[in-house]
Amino acid sequence: MKGTEDMELNVTPLSEWGLPDGNVFLAAGPCSAETEEQLLATARGLKGSGLSFFRAGMWKPRTHPGSFEGVGLEGLEWLERVRDECGMPVGIEVATPEHVEACLKHGVDVVWIGARTTPNPFAVQSLADAMRGTDMRVFVKNPISPDLELWIGALERLYSAGLRKIGVIHRGFSSSKKVLYRFAPHWKIPIELKRRLPDIPILCDPSHICGKADLIFSVAQEALDLLYDGLMIEVHVDPPNAWSDSRQQLTPDQFRVLMDRLTVKSELIKSEEYQARIRELRIEVDSLDKQLIEVLGKRMEIVREMGDLKRRNNISTLQPHRWNEIVVSRAATGSELGLAAEFIFRLFEEIHEEAIRQQEVGNG
Ligand code: PEP
Ligand code: MN
Repeated sequence: MKGTEDMELNVTPLSEWGLPDGNVFLAAGPCSAETEEQLLATARGLKGSGLSFFRAGMWKPRTHPGSFEGVGLEGLEWLERVRDECGMPVGIEVATPEHVEACLKHGVDVVWIGARTTPNPFAVQSLADAMRGTDMRVFVKNPISPDLELWIGALERLYSAGLRKIGVIHRGFSSSKKVLYRFAPHWKIPIELKRRLPDIPILCDPSHICGKADLIFSVAQEALDLLYDGLMIEVHVDPPNAWSDSRQQLTPDQFRVLMDRLTVKSELIKSEEYQARIRELRIEVDSLDKQLIEVLGKRMEIVREMGDLKRRNNISTLQPHRWNEIVVSRAATGSELGLAAEFIFRLFEEIHEEAIRQQEVGNG
């Protein structure tokens, strides 16, 4: 568990980035700039929605070559028109030093480093070097794989190049299990990032997490419940005909409905009644956690004794039948108490792994 040895990042609070910022920092716009008309129509649809910046992708990192890979430099001229006509700051993804140069030339207000670039230290370093000496506003999307260190490492590279307006965007993680989401949210990773770097502004990108428009509300609300500073959401004037990520984009009208439905939470509530009750509940939780740990300690003690017994009788540490019995019976007990089978399984997987480790240690 890292903590005190992390590089200290004294970043600029989002409220001092010089961008419009209501009670939620909002970035919205199409996945990709496609044509000047599409870009301007989308921007006009979003005008007056309180955006902190209007987003659009100019160079698209597509999984397969031959898919639409973005309009490139030409789109930056269209983006200037968006800014002039709609009065909104604008932001795009950068992946190479040339992209950074183009942004400086065209006065792009915000840039972000994409999920496929963040994990590459060479690429991030070359971007940091290209931004050195500027005061660019940069968001770093999480790496596509669930690797917190690579994410933090990218922030450190930018910080070391002198950048201070640095934030992060949680856009979900690639996972072998594709059940509900396109990219699994793994909330505990950004929560750990926030523990280690509490001052870093953090946005959530529910569009890429969900992959489908109808899931976006619940993920966006969850992000606000977890005190994210803001949201980045893909909005397109005609989602079904978008040239990339068509299933996850909202129309400007749907975006406004979404914003009306969302509730912004705050960490500190002044009500005395709330404070008193939450204190009581926290004391109960603290005491239950202590009991949990004591029970786990006792369980491991017994497990070690079982390890000795197995060793003396030349019996293998892993007993697949017994493990299966545990999985089934614990899930049944859990479900009587309204605990999800999947949660109980994950919990006992961890406990079982540690039990095996303890018995193996005994094997010397
Ligand atoms: C995007 O924002 O359009 C994008 C490509 O995002 P990501 O890097 O998160 O995939
Ligand atoms: Mn996209």
